[in-house]
Amino acid sequence: METRAAVTPPRPDRALATEAVHAGREDLAGLGVHAVPLDLSTTYPSSDSRGEAARLDAFATTGARLDGPPVYGRLDNPTTARFETALARLEGTEAAVAFASGMAALTACLLARSADGLRHVVAVRPLYGCSDHLLTAGLLGTEVTWTDPAGIEDAMRPDTGLVVVETPANPTLAEVDLRAIAHSCGTVPLLADNTFATPVLQRPAESGARVVLHSATKYLGGHGDVLGGVVACDEEFARRLRHVRFATGGVLHPLAGYLLLRGLSTLPVRVRAASATAAVLAARLADDPRVTAVHYPRIGGAMIAFDVAGDPHAVIGGVRLITPAVSLGSVDSLIQHPASISHRIVGADDRRRGGVGDRLLRLSVGLEDVEDLWQDLDGALAASVAPELPARAAAPAG
Ligand SMILES: *Cc1c(COP(=O)(O)O)cnc(C)c1O
Repeated sequence: METRAAVTPPRPDRALATEAVHAGREDLAGLGVHAVPLDLSTTYPSSDSRGEAARLDAFATTGARLDGPPVYGRLDNPTTARFETALARLEGTEAAVAFASGMAALTACLLARSADGLRHVVAVRPLYGCSDHLLTAGLLGTEVTWTDPAGIEDAMRPDTGLVVVETPANPTLAEVDLRAIAHSCGTVPLLADNTFATPVLQRPAESGARVVLHSATKYLGGHGDVLGGVVACDEEFARRLRHVRFATGGVLHPLAGYLLLRGLSTLPVRVRAASATAAVLAARLADDPRVTAVHYPRIGGAMIAFDVAGDPHAVIGGVRLITPAVSLGSVDSLIQHPASISHRIVGADDRRRGGVGDRLLRLSVGLEDVEDLWQDLDGALAASVAPELPARAAAPAG
């Protein structure tokens, strides 16, 4: 059986690009393999039930990663543990805990706090639509106060367990000053959703965020074929998250752990290449009379949001190369209309208050050639301002 991946200390001497391909894999040569072993076991045989009992007790008491071989797949998995080690190294945190999806990861963070009686959350809009919904609906017994960054200190209560922000935010790409917000949080942990920026562009832990959340489904996986979530944080918070994950079962499938670790190896290259293309497209959109506003983050990145003068639905119907679909962070470009899809679950008033207008489109720029992408956008924008003309010729059937 494969020995579990050791928790390796951060390597400040190594650049992110090096860590992306080596972190979590240092023991492979010693194992005599090159590719990461994929362990699909749900259970692990052991003739030493006294020893297992002691190790289970240790997990129940501390929440530390199991010492020695795994016991059961909901507790720990060696392939997923490699992904966790690698992501923690990229984010510069002590630990990371992986989940079945970004929403499972956020759920675990909320439950970890409310288990300590800290049921109140302070949050800044906009957030990803389902994150907004989870907080607004209070489904997990939490209560939310929405505020702007300047109002965070005043919104705090004795039972505030978490402050939640996204930067750049989904879908408007609004940015907040993490360092200033972390200061306003005092001793309350700041959770920063770093899905859009990725550790390639921003490492929120360095700015004081205690909890860094990812929908790994997006850039970390990077190919639109794996759902996952992960929280990078200090070991103390990670221990609470491992307890919640064990109790509630939102575990990442080992194959997803494998694919996410593989995705990390190309993350810096993908993000930098797509960001360079996005910067060109953002500049062209800003100069285009059919576009009324372009939202492109100060820190850059591969996401663009823009408001159109005409019909946003015609743009969605008009693209031929770009995939009209929700989600983001894939090797191919995707476009969607947040008010219809990603943020549909947020009430219309809250949505507009969060800056998500009805003419806003969100574009996730992939790795296609910039001129091919521009040609496609140009054609779709033409359709958006000429509703009286027949839309671009439909793709041939079949
Ligand atoms: C997609 C997304 C989520 C939710 O992640 P899933 O993997 O879809 O559960 C959370 N935050 C942000 C910013 C997202 O884009």
